Amino acid sequence: MKIAKDSVVRFHYTVSEVGQEALESSNDREPLAILYGHGNIIPGLETAMLDREAGESFGVDVAAADAYGEKRDGLSQRVPKKHFGAQKLEPGMQVVLQTNFGPRAVTIEKVGMSVVDVDLNHPMAGKDLHFDVEIVDVREASAEELEHGHVHGDGGHHH
Ligand code: ZN
Repeated sequence: MKIAKDSVVRFHYTVSEVGQEALESSNDREPLAILYGHGNIIPGLETAMLDREAGESFGVDVAAADAYGEKRDGLSQRVPKKHFGAQKLEPGMQVVLQTNFGPRAVTIEKVGMSVVDVDLNHPMAGKDLHFDVEIVDVREASAEELEHGHVHGDGGHHH
């Protein structure tokens, strides 16, 4: 079957900044499973997947605006150093911070004695990305999956 709204799609991906080395890949782990058409992946990738079938591979360039958005100014925040635990911090480093809204990837801007300035932009914000994608399988979502808005079973939620 072809990918359409309410499909469950499992796929492998490799993502890079356009013209550069790979930043991240799923090839050394389980494929990612998503409920298609529900905004669970970036818009540019969702668009590029429409009507594809299991076994298909494709590459697609996604402009920043259709990926993680443009980098926004004024997203700096000062955070007490104790929130970072014992790790050694350097400007430019990306770390995952535990926030009230769950884990969030941030970029270290400045390290002080007791506080750290971080940039809350997504690390891939403002970047034009290239994805290489291999569709592993496609099936229809169950009524329960549609109700929950996410995939159950392989590569999805277990609960
Ligand atoms: Zn669920």
